[in-house]
Amino acid sequence: MDADCIFCKIIRGEAPSTMLYQDEYAVAFKDIAPIAPVHVLIVPRQHIVSAAEVTAENAPLIGHLIAVAARLARELGIAERGYRLVTNIGREGGQSVFHLHWHLLGGRQMRGLG
Ligand code: AMP
Repeated sequence: MDADCIFCKIIRGEAPSTMLYQDEYAVAFKDIAPIAPVHVLIVPRQHIVSAAEVTAENAPLIGHLIAVAARLARELGIAERGYRLVTNIGREGGQSVFHLHWHLLGGRQMRGLG
């Protein structure tokens, strides 16, 4: 846990969120500034800075996060049409919160990657 990390605060219940899913290893909540009709963040409880810090030890956790994203996509009704799972790494990669997370984006046509 990182005392200054906004996602750690959300996980500890010290900052507000619209929580959609919680288990022992992961949480998922709505992005505060959505860029698609469905924009959910899937976040490990463990404070890992980004995907660049992931080790072989974390492999089961990463698989779990992707499975949670797929489950949420089904529950939120976007699985059949398709959706995007994105993780940004570092400032130039577009990362602004330095606690590993996947963006689950859907409900509209996705274009480009840039
Ligand atoms: P990234 O820029 O890839 O690190 O993604 C961070 C995301 O977290 C952005 O899409 C922000 O809108 C979102 N965000 C930042 N603070 C909060 C918050 N308090 N609750 C929900 N989402 C947040």
